[in-house]
Amino acid sequence: MAVTKGTELLTPGKRWTNWGRVERVVPKFASKPSNIEEVQQTILRARELGVPVKAIGAGHSFTAIAIAPGVQLDPSGLDGLLEVDAKSKRVKIAAGTNLYQLPALLSPHGLAMENLGDIDRQTISGATSTGTHGTGGKFRGIAAQIVAATLVKADGEILVVSETENKELLPAVRLGLGALGILVDLTIQCVPAFVMQAIEKPEPMETVLNEWDERVDGTDHFEFYWFPYTDTVLTKSNKRLHAETKLQPLGKLKRWVDDVAVSNGVFELTCATGKLIPAAVPGINRIATKLTGNREFTDVSTSVFTTQRTVHFREMEYAIPREAIPNAVREINSMIRKRDFKISFPIEVRAAAQDDLWLSTAFGRESGYIAVHRYWRENYLEYFKAVEQIMNSYDGRPHWGKIHFQDAESLSKLYPKYEAFLKVRNMLDPERIFANPYLDRVLGA
Ligand SMILES: Cc1cc2nc3c(=O)[nH]c(=O)nc-3n(C[C@H](O)[C@H](O)[C@H](O)COP(=O)(O)OP(=O)(O)OC[C@H]3O[C@@H](n4cnc5c(N)ncnc54)[C@H](O)[C@@H]3O)c2cc1C
Repeated sequence: MAVTKGTELLTPGKRWTNWGRVERVVPKFASKPSNIEEVQQTILRARELGVPVKAIGAGHSFTAIAIAPGVQLDPSGLDGLLEVDAKSKRVKIAAGTNLYQLPALLSPHGLAMENLGDIDRQTISGATSTGTHGTGGKFRGIAAQIVAATLVKADGEILVVSETENKELLPAVRLGLGALGILVDLTIQCVPAFVMQAIEKPEPMETVLNEWDERVDGTDHFEFYWFPYTDTVLTKSNKRLHAETKLQPLGKLKRWVDDVAVSNGVFELTCATGKLIPAAVPGINRIATKLTGNREFTDVSTSVFTTQRTVHFREMEYAIPREAIPNAVREINSMIRKRDFKISFPIEVRAAAQDDLWLSTAFGRESGYIAVHRYWRENYLEYFKAVEQIMNSYDGRPHWGKIHFQDAESLSKLYPKYEAFLKVRNMLDPERIFANPYLDRVLGA
């Protein structure tokens, strides 16, 4: 294919920082294609210039996975609903579409995403590329809801991967770390729109840990938050209900007070205070536990799954065998107390069903997830490294979009299909057009 428009597609790159304010770069060039042909031209032009190409999503990965030193390709010009198949409940979505756009695109067709994480700012391509997940013992992550994808390869050619075309590549492409090509559209297996009942309440930590398995199996989507230095957790139990169920949503004011003012606004204040006076953290955490939680409401699924996060933080999340969660949480508790880490951010614990995507943190095992956070102004290194050490003893697999300290050697032992993924990468991108330093670290150069 000849380069015709590639020249004017590339503009000088601008300073870029991710949401967690950990990673930053000034790319050599930027490109914002508005159709598939412009994606192809961008890649070919980058090859002529000898620079790599990296797509960015919404910059919500905490790792350097989206860092683009060469051409930063912004797919936000490719957005919206492209096709709907009402019978199979499958929709084709342009790759740069943000998750928050989906309810308006899907609800006119009576459809919804089967499961979501706890925010909706990400792009569909960014979310699937890092294995973004929510919670629910019977439910898998976003990538497992993808049934087909169209990519532009390193040679500028188009590749369709689906159940009928290039099927053998599906387990790699659905969760590809952005290493295999530029995604231009994704086909999602949706479900009929549904409503969820949410019950959120504080409960004794040991009771919940002892009943972990029953709690996960006892409802559709169970998770809990634990503020270090307290013996209380905030449980969230969400039950899926028929779309016709009468809604009892939180009033706008109540939602604002709970989610924005208390969970983010007051929280920002407590985190900032905790940074200035670390000794105050245990007391602050006890107050935070009392201020949040204890509510019940019924709303459309997306409004229950996702909340707003306005306080910036850094996060590490590990998947371990589901049954190991209670002991792993207890070990983290002892470690925090022993090392005297003053942690003002809650620890989030979730579950997911196993899947068959080669680089999925839930590949081949029922998984429990432990996410630890630190306020963005605080140093996270020592705490995260100490947690990672515990996670290593449970064969923990780190979230690709969240901070971790693993490399290709250690990761290759955690994923039975790691080599199979590398083979696909070697085939689709032998010259590493889509590489960056993070991918060099986790996949090898
Ligand atoms: C506040 C907050 C809450 C979060 N909650 C959750 C949660 O509940 N569950 C969870 O699992 N994760 C969660 N995350 C992590 C987040 O979902 C992932 O890191 C996700 O990948 C971010 O999506 P993004 O659109 O911002 O992609 P980016 O971070 O910008 O990019 C991620 C990867 O996708 C690739 N990519 C993007 N677009 C394309 C494309 N068109 N073609 C090829 N590759 C592409 C990039 O190159 C990069 O490799 C959270 C993050 C934050 C900041």
